Amino acid sequence: MIYQGAARHPVTAIVIHCAATRPAWMDDRPFAEQVAEIRRWHVTDNKWRDIGYHWLIGRGGEIRPGRAETEVGAGVAGYNSGVIHICLIGGHGSSGSDTFSAHFTAAQDVSLRQLIQGISMRTRITRISGHNEHAAKACPGFHIPTWLRQAA
Ligand SMILES: [Zn+2]
Repeated sequence: MIYQGAARHPVTAIVIHCAATRPAWMDDRPFAEQVAEIRRWHVTDNKWRDIGYHWLIGRGGEIRPGRAETEVGAGVAGYNSGVIHICLIGGHGSSGSDTFSAHFTAAQDVSLRQLIQGISMRTRITRISGHNEHAAKACPGFHIPTWLRQAA
């Protein structure tokens, strides 16, 4: 199991997000710099102690860590303890009922499934959901239960 924070909340859930960035956002910059920019939004603009997401997936399918999995993240108001938050780069202008492929790449689809599988091997995941199942938001810009039923 993975445990988060001083209270050692067992990690049992994954929530998927998007960065709400346009398809070509910072596409001339390395993915590490894109992650650094999102960290700056969260730390400098939001005054959080670190980037809110535990993992980020670039347009080319690159996977980079954000906040440590052993720390409580900041992704959904009131739903963070025991949750790992994953953010897909892209998703600008999406609605919660769009398809994955309308806003994200095939490489991101493969990487997201691999990342979920990897996390599920390290802790007992009982729920995988989208931000839009917890709040009146479009994020991540598709319907996770439908996407989970589809093959990559
Ligand atoms: Zn979100």
